[in-house]
Amino acid sequence: MPPFFAQALLEWYPRHRRDLPWRHTRDPYAIWLSEVILQQTRVKQGLPYYLTFINSYPTVQDLAAAPQDEVLRHWQGLGYYSRARNMHHTAQQVVREYGGRFPTSYTGLLQLRGVGQYTAAAIASFAYDERVAVLDGNVFRVLARVFGITQDIAAPASRKIFQQLADTLIPADRPAEFNQAVMEFGAIQCTPLKPDCLFCPLQSHCYAFQHGMVSELPVKSKAKAARTRFFHYLVLRHADTLYMRKRGPKDIWEGLYDFHLQETDSGELPAAALLAAVEAVGGQIDVRRAEEPTQALRHVLSHQKVEARFHVVWLQAPLPVQALQLTGLAAFGSAEVEELPKPILIANYIGNTLK
Ligand code: SF4
Repeated sequence: MPPFFAQALLEWYPRHRRDLPWRHTRDPYAIWLSEVILQQTRVKQGLPYYLTFINSYPTVQDLAAAPQDEVLRHWQGLGYYSRARNMHHTAQQVVREYGGRFPTSYTGLLQLRGVGQYTAAAIASFAYDERVAVLDGNVFRVLARVFGITQDIAAPASRKIFQQLADTLIPADRPAEFNQAVMEFGAIQCTPLKPDCLFCPLQSHCYAFQHGMVSELPVKSKAKAARTRFFHYLVLRHADTLYMRKRGPKDIWEGLYDFHLQETDSGELPAAALLAAVEAVGGQIDVRRAEEPTQALRHVLSHQKVEARFHVVWLQAPLPVQALQLTGLAAFGSAEVEELPKPILIANYIGNTLK
């Protein structure tokens, strides 16, 4: 493989790279933390989260020992909460099974829970200078354009083609810098919508540019249309307390707190159904304090859209203990509510409406 690609990027990188804190460290823990946070997240959004985590938990032992609610609370607003839970479990695994030290090779890192090929390659190259090429969305795009690869990047079989190519391109003497350079080049020069082809050092070698295919590459099949779910939240209140519950597994937002939920097939919840739902949890509505439900608040996730309405229900008396056991609800004062990890939809509703 001609060395033009590595040469051009290694010259381009020092002049254009952004100064980011995880680029000043070889600590595999800090690198891993940054990679987990930056998956499916822009650098600008992820940076304050990285700083929060590295300051709150300077070592993997600190993160492993933290309560899960606290970890999720720090993660609040970043989405894809399974990443936070996996991150926490991985930290515990590193402490428990590896004495608090990350494995020092790509194959060793792959043994860690939640660490896939991309993250293992990133840590192995950035922390240990192992010659293993990273493949993220940016790298797929750059390679597809420069080398004119028309395989669907969303198809699992394509990964092998891209990985083989990337592995031949990565120089033995500067693997970390090369990986950083390709990712950064995709993030700020060869961007998805308006790549800066005019001032691109790869222009004369770039297949997509030379063939007028920049907007057609990479090829990526469309994801299935997201389904819409209709959530009716019963915001059960009594005096100064608010009833919330921790969400269970096998659905979105595992481990986060929301309100008693009625999910329906449409955006409507008739008054009789609301009354029945409150009675089913052992509550008595205080009709003197009836409130209108909110307009639908829409929240878009990767594979589904949530249309949520909030029905504030003032209760005549606290919920009975059996009802709490049955529903998983618990009573919280407003200061406690603030500390609970919540989906951003719920946090925004509370912040905008209940204060
Ligand atoms: S010429 Fe355009 S499409 Fe090709 S690598 Fe450069 S920025 Fe990307």
